[in-house]
Amino acid sequence: MARRESAAAGPGSRALVVDLIRSSGPISRVELVKATGLTQPTISNIVRRLIDDGVVRETGDTVATRGKPRTLLVINSRAAYGVGIHLGDSTLTCVVTDTRGGTVGRQLVAAPAGTGPADLTDALADLYRDVTRGLGLPPRSVAGMAVVGPGPVDVVRGDFLAPGRRPAEQGLARELSERLAVPVLVDSDASAATVGEFWGRQVSRERTFGCLYMNAGIGSGVVLDGSLHRGASSNAGKVGHVAVVRDGEPCPCGNRGCLEQYAAPHVLAARARTVPGLADRLRIRPDDPADRAFDVLARAAVYGDEDARALLDEAADLLADGALTLVNLWDLDTLVLAGPGFAVAGSLYVAAIRRRLGERACTREVHAVDVGLSSNPRDSAAIGGAALVLQGSVAPGHGPLVAARAG
Ligand SMILES: [Zn+2]
Repeated sequence: MARRESAAAGPGSRALVVDLIRSSGPISRVELVKATGLTQPTISNIVRRLIDDGVVRETGDTVATRGKPRTLLVINSRAAYGVGIHLGDSTLTCVVTDTRGGTVGRQLVAAPAGTGPADLTDALADLYRDVTRGLGLPPRSVAGMAVVGPGPVDVVRGDFLAPGRRPAEQGLARELSERLAVPVLVDSDASAATVGEFWGRQVSRERTFGCLYMNAGIGSGVVLDGSLHRGASSNAGKVGHVAVVRDGEPCPCGNRGCLEQYAAPHVLAARARTVPGLADRLRIRPDDPADRAFDVLARAAVYGDEDARALLDEAADLLADGALTLVNLWDLDTLVLAGPGFAVAGSLYVAAIRRRLGERACTREVHAVDVGLSSNPRDSAAIGGAALVLQGSVAPGHGPLVAARAG
């Protein structure tokens, strides 16, 4: 008892209570006592503070019981707004969500033509101002902004380390935070999507939850006890750099035969151009960017083009091995596929992964693994960025979220 009471003062208990209301609300104080093992006075104190802060509200409904009627609690959707911007290959996607993860605004613009760090900073600042002003959000209602993109990332400095991207002088997060006067964080698209899917799908913290993310690269994230597992430098989960072919194709990461070199969308788009007649038949033009060419190929595979289907099946087979590795490493019970790479033919990948896990997962005799597709694979990283900001703001204590604040 004493141990629990001393823990109650820490941010962990607040995060736990927020997380339970998020995933199972509407919920009463009595149910929170049962679910957390904390005492009734502790729950009352935490809930009172959450209501004072505007994070939680009473629904006005009560549950009749033999004793006193129980008031139900939910997350206050308007407590704060989070802004997430996803750096895609050729686009920037900005999404604004409320505290319950509902999307209140979205804008897609072309990525800046210039490749210098200042070009990106300017484009991100303009997009943030456009979207928040367009929605009429008072500056104080915005909890912060997350910029998410391909890893690796340096979350302490707040910038991307991806090859070909020149880092901003003081770090992207600090430069943006100073310019916009909001907290800014930088994280990988896979980490963001993982938190976004966990938060948005109202997954219970008791689940061992994994997310497989595919855009230009292939990454993953795992949520354990309600917290994203980050690793030593917030770069965990690079399943795309697990070698699937010994001494195979060289990869920019330095390894050879990485999964990404065989199953990533741009690789399939390039292979489609080498199959005689396929690119012409699907009207994939030589100057089409890889992500667009891949979407066309994936659509053709879904509609039964045999050549397109063969390419997708081969990639899905390799990706299923990647998913099997994730499930076996973490003993996952839930796996969600997210990212633009799954936007068109996600169901083909889901089927291949379900089949593989049913046949080969080490735990298949012990428990099933629930495999599903994001309800919005294309925007999942941007939505997740907003979720990262909100989770850090309303339920601090969830993990080493690093957000730079101006000044
Ligand atoms: Zn690699």
